[in-house]
Amino acid sequence: MTDAGSLLAGDSRYQQVGTLGSGAFSTVVRARDRQTGEEVAVKLIQRGSLVADRRLYVKREVAYLAGLSSHPCIVSAHEAFLTSTHLCIAMELVEGGTLFHWVLGQGARERPPLSVADARWLFQMLIIGLDFMHRRGVANRDVKLENLLVDSKTAQRPLLKVCDLSYSKHDADSAAQTMVGTAAYLAPEVVRWSEHYDAKKVDVWGAGIVLYVLLYGQLPFEPSRPDIFAEHDERRRPPPPDRQVDAGAEELLAIMLARHPAQRPTMQQIIDHPWFQADLPPGALTL
Ligand code: ADP
Ligand code: MG
Repeated sequence: MTDAGSLLAGDSRYQQVGTLGSGAFSTVVRARDRQTGEEVAVKLIQRGSLVADRRLYVKREVAYLAGLSSHPCIVSAHEAFLTSTHLCIAMELVEGGTLFHWVLGQGARERPPLSVADARWLFQMLIIGLDFMHRRGVANRDVKLENLLVDSKTAQRPLLKVCDLSYSKHDADSAAQTMVGTAAYLAPEVVRWSEHYDAKKVDVWGAGIVLYVLLYGQLPFEPSRPDIFAEHDERRRPPPPDRQVDAGAEELLAIMLARHPAQRPTMQQIIDHPWFQADLPPGALTL
């Protein structure tokens, strides 16, 4: 790609060499560091779209990524900078695409369904990453397949990395009220506008949705109808009949998707659950 077609200016430290994805407010490009030759991902957020609220989210994203960068299950940030048109975050390039691609998108059509063992491995890394964030007082509030990156460059099993902290909340222990997130993953209490909610328990719900998709290859709730939340339990899709999942996984799923946040486990309680502990690679909890 020539600089003319690039979102990054010609005199930028990074030269755009491709595109990686996009979200509600951003485009993420593949770029090469002109000084070191290293390939990175650069998230570009249009400055015109930075209305006051949004500006706050971006500031938080930069700050949190910097503070949480040391963990292998969280994408690491290199630096943030401004161009005349965009606010940019240069970060570690993760090569394998999103978990959405792997389990619901094109990748899922090209490969056999995940084994339960692989599903558990990916889930273990998600929970270890989220637990790390929660212990540092940060909740993500937008846990979903599109915000989880699969690093397939590693020798054995792929690694999972949480990206996109734009909706994160740094004082995660104080009550939240803002309705943020993505319809198919929204916890019931977030949808009830006026209610204060516990942002960490919202992440437990989101991780429960991810676990359901990892196990069953489909979303548990209809994404287009946020009003279904009044009838959540009844409307959860029945799992495909040909998929054998053990009772421990089903039990964990049921408590993570409990309607009442107080009945949901904490990340630590998920880690302590026997289904989570089974097959846990030595050292995984101290990554
Ligand atoms: P938004 O806040 O707009 O949702 P994200 O941070 O989720 O933006 O990034 C949008 C998409 O870009 C992701 O879903 C993913 O496909 C891709 N992406 C983001 N960060 C990286 C990265 N570090 N490496 C590779 N691809 C990435
Ligand atoms: Mg995103």
